[in-house]
Amino acid sequence: MMSLAEQLTRQNIKGLVPYASARRSMSGGSIWLNANESPFANEYQLDCSVLNRYPDFQPAGLINAYADYAGVTNKQVLASRGADEAIELLIRTFCEDNESIMICPPTYGMYAISAETCNINTKKVPLNPDFSLNLAEMENNKADVKLVFICTPNNPTGSLISHQQIKAVLDMFKDKAIVAIDEAYIEFSPESTVASWINDYPNLAIMRTLSKAFALAGIRCGFTLANQNIIEAMSKVIPPYPISWPVAQIASQALSAQGISRMQTQLEQINEQKARIAQALTELDYIYEVLPSASNFIMFRTHAKKAIFDKLIEEGILIRDYSSQVMLDNSLRISVGSKEETDALLSVMQAFKA
Ligand SMILES: *Cc1c(COP(=O)(O)O)cnc(C)c1O
Repeated sequence: MMSLAEQLTRQNIKGLVPYASARRSMSGGSIWLNANESPFANEYQLDCSVLNRYPDFQPAGLINAYADYAGVTNKQVLASRGADEAIELLIRTFCEDNESIMICPPTYGMYAISAETCNINTKKVPLNPDFSLNLAEMENNKADVKLVFICTPNNPTGSLISHQQIKAVLDMFKDKAIVAIDEAYIEFSPESTVASWINDYPNLAIMRTLSKAFALAGIRCGFTLANQNIIEAMSKVIPPYPISWPVAQIASQALSAQGISRMQTQLEQINEQKARIAQALTELDYIYEVLPSASNFIMFRTHAKKAIFDKLIEEGILIRDYSSQVMLDNSLRISVGSKEETDALLSVMQAFKA
């Protein structure tokens, strides 16, 4: 019999398959290379003397620090519980019931899931085989679209969308829809940011996060960068105290000059391990393609995907299987970890016989 909760659940939620995050879908293992986290666990100071008080709506120290870091003004920043909350806020702020978001798969899964929880339709315009945008098809599917999500560097492919294509989409949806550029991995490809464009494009919003290069996935802190009018509209929808004091303190320390320089040092170490992994995978004969990556993860294709995936699990190493997604036949993704984690990963992969 259907439980009361099931009977009463909203229709669009009944059939919803929740996001299978790395942490939710896989347990165990001792080396986690499946969630694009940083391998570095850094130390922070916490002052607990004001925890009886509600935090500021948008803690000024944090907002100013992120605005400085991103090269925008403090009125062009909104802090949220991760970039994931920013995705949902954009949908709830801008999409009416009968309107759609547009996404370009293969891409990050949360855009479509967030839309579904809000009962908003998702129009999918797959990327071209070279992972560029299919602009002609985007144009053909423009009707009813209020929000376009573009991820660059793209998760899970690691590819970049050219500035020229981003401009074309901003123009295509001028006066019509918000174009949200997900820059979760931008520190790994800093020259690709479009943050300096927010003064020129009233329909541009950019998502950022401290979860990846800044090694703070555990605190849940992300940002939207956009012109003041977009930020004000989203500020109506975000809950009154989105950023807890402990989060504000830790995030502010991460964004101090010292914190940013530590992030850059760690980023260089990750890039070294990434180059090592890419080179090693290219030399393995059971792998037939290693995709170039502008990010902290590497996607590769192998006809032995299940065998190598299971072998790694057996050795306590978790990576991520994307092979059931459009255009990602036989594809597995490795998040780049520490030197020691890379040593362990490569020794298993090099000993493996398909
Ligand atoms: C990890 C990730 C996010 C989510 O970031 P949080 O700040 O941890 O919520 C958003 N977009 C992409 C593309 C990601 O890979």
